[in-house]
Order: sequence, then structure tokens, then C-alpha cells
Amino acid sequence: MATAVGPTVFKNFINGEWVESSSGLAFEDRNPANSRELIGMFPRSTAEDVDAAVRAAADAFESWRLVPAPKRAEILYRAAETLVKRKDDLARDMTREMGKVLAEARGDVQEAIDMTYYMAGEGRRLFGQTTPSELPSKFAMSVRQPLGVCALITPWNFPMAIPSWKIMPALVCGNTVVIKPAEDTPLSTYALIQILVEAGLPRGVVNVVNGGGPEVGAPLVSHPKVAAVSFTGSSEVGRLVSQSCAPKLRPCHLEMGGKNILIVLEDANLDLAIDGAIWGGFGTTGQRCTAASRVAVHKKVYKDFLYRFVERAKTLRVGDGLDPTADMGPCINEEQLNKVMEYVGIGKNEGAKLMTGGRRLTEGVWGNGWFHEPTIFGDCDPRMRIAQEEIFGPVVAVMPIEGFDEAIEVANGVRYGLSASIYTQDVNRALEAMRDLHTGIVYVNAPTIGAEIHLPFGGTKETGNGHREAGNAALDFYSEWKTLYIDYSNRLQRAQIDS
Ligand code: NAD
Repeated sequence: MATAVGPTVFKNFINGEWVESSSGLAFEDRNPANSRELIGMFPRSTAEDVDAAVRAAADAFESWRLVPAPKRAEILYRAAETLVKRKDDLARDMTREMGKVLAEARGDVQEAIDMTYYMAGEGRRLFGQTTPSELPSKFAMSVRQPLGVCALITPWNFPMAIPSWKIMPALVCGNTVVIKPAEDTPLSTYALIQILVEAGLPRGVVNVVNGGGPEVGAPLVSHPKVAAVSFTGSSEVGRLVSQSCAPKLRPCHLEMGGKNILIVLEDANLDLAIDGAIWGGFGTTGQRCTAASRVAVHKKVYKDFLYRFVERAKTLRVGDGLDPTADMGPCINEEQLNKVMEYVGIGKNEGAKLMTGGRRLTEGVWGNGWFHEPTIFGDCDPRMRIAQEEIFGPVVAVMPIEGFDEAIEVANGVRYGLSASIYTQDVNRALEAMRDLHTGIVYVNAPTIGAEIHLPFGGTKETGNGHREAGNAALDFYSEWKTLYIDYSNRLQRAQIDS
């Protein structure tokens, strides 16, 4: 609720200063559990602001790239320590702006902590190769070089984790950064940047420009001084970003949508599979790119699984994420809630069986928020739209399957390829699934969500464009190899010619 002193007004961060947008306009950041609560006003920025931020980052790059990586890393260590100290407050603020329950918001901040420590550790690694030359008295090696200004565009569902996945590897490799956070969750990025600045990041190394996708994101990814772009969001916008980078041959990393499957074979531990389906389907209100929005169950255990899955879903308590009794928070905004309701209608029209849920919640504490019931459709055909398209809400499509081969075919029969999971006690089946599921991530006897920061993260097909986030793989995007030959023979030596 706005108070008598007015809402908190936040600014962009450009060239080491907190500054207003050149437009003088602002947009609202509101609590999705209670849209009457105004969290703050953020600048509605313009291409002019983007230009100032990119120029500042380009200037800063010339000195930041020369700071030894272990020294760059010391700043990240200090930032990680502050994140640890402020974890609870950061998580509460995140729940207020994003809606996820507090335990999950704490997990989101923890992911940023883990990534910051991990990438700080890279400051003393960033290993290259040394290898013998084929010629005498010649030395050969490769080193990682920074790219320049990295433009980062992030979504709202992991408002601190995802920015940290991009900012930390970019910085430790010696790049400078301009980030545009999602309009629904600018506060968490603001807090992360504030902490990096307090930790001693020099002027211009990190810049934040708030605002809309077309108004800020588009001029940012196409700015002539940007060296590389990393985007996480929908496949539709990812395609636009890719098209904008293509004519400039600009490296572009895309992490996009998912339609992830959880497979339950006839020999699965059903209790475990149901725990996984509940957490995978309704954790973060189904608003995870890795959410288990499809479940394929062997016909021998189908009825039993579906009954128990539905009974468990009915016990989930929907509420404000700050309420410790809530299991599931609201959808992020009215538009996303409407999309969920539209898909519930589509599912019904397609002939799927609505087993539980299917309604917006508007009574009592839900009155001012974007709440929806956990919803399960049974007897779905894999070709139905609810089993093919990303809904990004608390809706799960359950499909009966004849056996393992059909499970793999159904799993691979979508345009996305982020995460898949299989529940089975049969080690051969598990290994076959690990081989044949065409996704970037496969889980055995665990749900489709739960990535750890030191392993590669990303997907195949329309989920990604071949790059990976997190772990060592992130370094491959935020640096490029330079190969160095030093000939100390004092004579001309010709590779492949002189023997
Ligand atoms: P979105 O594509 O609508 O927006 C993502 C970001 O792109 C936002 O910051 C937005 O302002 C910006 N944007 C919009 N139009 C733009 C343009 N023309 N040019 C440049 N930037 C533009 O996605 P969203 O609704 O914020 O997030 C949900 C989507 O993100 C889902 O599809 C989800 O699967 C995906 N996601 C993927 C991953 C992953 O790692 N694969 C992780 C989280 C979310």
C-alpha cells in the first residue's frame, strides 16, 4: 500500500551512479499476492539510457579487463558474504515482488550465493591449456579472453538467481555488464547490484537499465558496442533477440521455454514419484522453466498414481508466500493468470478430464492477488495443446502410456528440450532414458527441477541455442579462446612443412 510519504522510487545504475531515466517516467512494481501493495516505482527507460549504460560499460572494460582475475574474484567473494548476511531480508523482498513462498525465495537467494562463490573461485582457475608444439623450441598455450560489454536480459521467475548466473561468470572473465531485469521483479536485481557495488566493483563495470522489452531490451541487444548477449525468457522473444544479433554475428546465448515431462514406469516407487510430481508441477506455482507440466504414467499404475496425485494436490494450501502455512503462491501477474485460465478452458475443450482445480481463487485473502488452484488434467492425449505448449502455471497434464518406448516418444515429441525425469527401479531402463531423452537435463528418481549451480544448465531444440549456463560451461560463453605460440628457436619454423 502506498504510504503518506509516497512509494519508494528506485533508479537505474549507470556509470557508478544511481540515475533517473531520461524519460522521467516510471512503472510500478506490485505484489502479486496483493496487487494493492506497491513495492516501488522503477524507471521506464529509453534507448538513450541504454546508450549511456553501454558506453559506460565499454569505457570501464578497458581497465576492468586488466584487473587480475583473482582480484576481480575478491570483489565477488565480498558480495557473496553480504548476500549470506542479508539472505532473509532479500528473500522476503523477493516473495513480495515475485510471489514464490518464502522457503523458495530463500532458495533463489542461496542460488545467487552459490553462484557468486563458485565464480569467485574461478578467479584463481580460468584454466587454459599448455601443450607441446610440434616444432622444437616453440611454446604453445591457450588463454581465456573477455569479450567486452555483455548485454543481459532476464525473466521474473528467478529474479536473483538468473541475474547471478549471468553477471558472475561475465565479471570474473573480465567483461563488463549492462542488465535489463524483468519489469515484474526489478527489486531483486537492484539489491544484487547494490551489493556488488558495496563490495567494491569499479564504476561502469555493472550497469542496470530498467524498463520494457521493446523499449530497453531491443536497443540493448542491438547496440553497436555490445559484444555478446545472454537472454533468458520465452522462445518467442528469444527468437527476436537471436535475429537482432545475427546480422552483427554477435554471440548470443538463449535459455528459453520448456514442456518438461516426469515419466513414471510400472516399477516406480509411487510415493516418491508423487512427491516429485507435486514439487515439480506446483513448486513456484508451476512458473519454472523446468516445471513438470506433463506426467506420463504406465497404464499398470496409472489409476493408482492419478488418484493419489490428485488427493495430494487437493491438500496444497494456496496463499501469500510470506504466510508460513502456504505451499503455493500466486501467479506473477494478471496476464499470466489469464493465460492459465485460458489453458484450463483449452484443456476442457480438448476433452481432457479435469481432476482437480481449474478455478481462479478470489475469496478472502486471495481477493487482491493472482491466485489459481493447483490443477490436474487426467487422460490427456500427448497431442493436446495442454500437453504440448508451455503454460507456465499450476497446471499438470497426466497421460497414460503403454510402456517405456512410448514414454520416450511422448517425452521427445514436443518443441522444447529442457528437462525430463524418470521414476524406475530398473537400472537398464534408467540408463536407456539417460541416453534417449532429448533434453539438456535428465533426472532419475527425482523431479524435473532442482539444478545445481556447478553443472551445465540449458536445453535442446527450441529451449536453447547450444550454449549452457552455470558451471564451467558458463565460462565458455563469457570468454573466448586466444591461442598463443612463442617461438624461441631464433629461426623461421613452418608448422606442417618443416619436419
Ligand atoms: P519474456 O520472454 O516475456 O521476457 C523475458 C525478458 O525479455 C524480459 O526482461 C523482457 O522484458 C525482455 N524482452 C521482451 N521483449 C523483448 C525484446 N523485443 N527484446 C529484448 N528483450 C525483450 O519471458 P518471461 O515472461 O519474463 O519469462 C517466462 C519465460 O522464460 C518462460 O518461457 C520460461 O520458460 C522462460 N525461462 C527459461 C529459463 C531457462 O533457463 N530455460 C529460465 C527461466 C525462465
